[in-house]
Amino acid sequence: MNKPCIFCEISAGRMDADIVYSDDDIVAFKDIHPRAPVHLLVIPREHIPSHQDMLESHSTLFGRMHWVAKQLAEEYGVAESGYRTIFNCGRDGGQEVWHIHLHLLGGRPLAWPP
Ligand code: 5GP
Repeated sequence: MNKPCIFCEISAGRMDADIVYSDDDIVAFKDIHPRAPVHLLVIPREHIPSHQDMLESHSTLFGRMHWVAKQLAEEYGVAESGYRTIFNCGRDGGQEVWHIHLHLLGGRPLAWPP
């Protein structure tokens, strides 16, 4: 039997996570292994495996994920100092969980290139 998607499980409330935002379409929660003082993940409730699986009909949803990230950046005190939003996509992009998620990282200077 296929293992259930962990982010679908979190979104459905069947798996614990530190939820910081939730609405009918989007959930955001703290990353379990934070790479920065603020490290949140913004996900759609819909199971979309990766950025490359985005359809044109997802445009509004993806825009709203960025809107939620912007609000959370303010709430978590990194809006002024700056932060980074990232979709890791595929093997070379470093994607480990195949349910699309927008990383919001902040609270320390972030190196570039990664
Ligand atoms: P990716 O490399 O796919 O872009 O990032 C996946 C992220 O999900 C990683 O930063 C990882 O720490 C986080 N993560 C993996 N499993 C869990 C989990 O069960 N709960 C939470 N809150 N975060 C997770």
